[in-house]
Amino acid sequence: MYRGKNVVITGGSSGIGFGVAKFFVAGGARVAITGRSQATLDAARQQLGENVVTVRGDVASPADLDEMADRVKRELGSVEALFVNAGITRSSPFESMTEEVYDELFAINVKGAYFTVQKLAPLLSTGAGVVLTTSAANVQGIEGASAYAAGKAAVRSMARSLARELLPRGIRVNAVSPGPIDTEILEKEMSAEDAAAFKAQVVANNPMQRFGGPDEIARAVAFLAFDATYTTGAELAVDGGATQL
Ligand code: NAD
Repeated sequence: MYRGKNVVITGGSSGIGFGVAKFFVAGGARVAITGRSQATLDAARQQLGENVVTVRGDVASPADLDEMADRVKRELGSVEALFVNAGITRSSPFESMTEEVYDELFAINVKGAYFTVQKLAPLLSTGAGVVLTTSAANVQGIEGASAYAAGKAAVRSMARSLARELLPRGIRVNAVSPGPIDTEILEKEMSAEDAAAFKAQVVANNPMQRFGGPDEIARAVAFLAFDATYTTGAELAVDGGATQL
């Protein structure tokens, strides 16, 4: 279904990005996954197979993004779908949020998303789809998430203006807004017990009473990137109804 299509996925070696890479590889696309650790990227490529190119670099660094774009150009040439997925979460009561953590969140989630699009835009072919990653935290009040949520709301807003700016080139820009998706993202910032307790609470509060899977995000990304040819500047919630019901 995606044979002959080139897809770039930032943060593609784990979690949602890995699941989306798996989906597109299964559909016949050639996929570039980016990440900061070559070892982790190599391990992901081993699982994903030969149609995957690894691109090392930190999305918070525009200089790295220049090099990443050069490699994507050499390996893939043009890009038909760009999934801007790399991101971190850091929760903290707002009283104890530090400047360092706040800056890290915005450097990766906001500046990283912005310059990923800027640096890869020259490679996007006419008709290409860009999908940015926001979060249900955009529209829900979540304790401890004020800085993360503010950054994701910035990404949601960025999608609208980028959609305007790329429209003359026939490129659409949309956002996917995941609710709770079962990945390791929580375990990266809290203990396994705290993550388990948090997850139990999330399940109890979700209208569908479960986490979503990366494959469910993958189908939404594929829709926005390839099928939604009359949709730009939009945000698609994939969250078990959490922000809609
Ligand atoms: P994850 O930690 O498994 O994946 C994030 C990926 O981004 C990792 O591969 C990580 O190495 C990469 N990354 C982080 N910082 C980077 C940097 N500076 N440069 C390059 N790569 C970097 O988490 P995930 O749950 O798969 O999250 C993916 C995206 O989905 C994030 O943007 C996150 O905010 C968003 N999201 C996740 C959930 C959820 O419940 N899992 C909910 C809403 C939104």
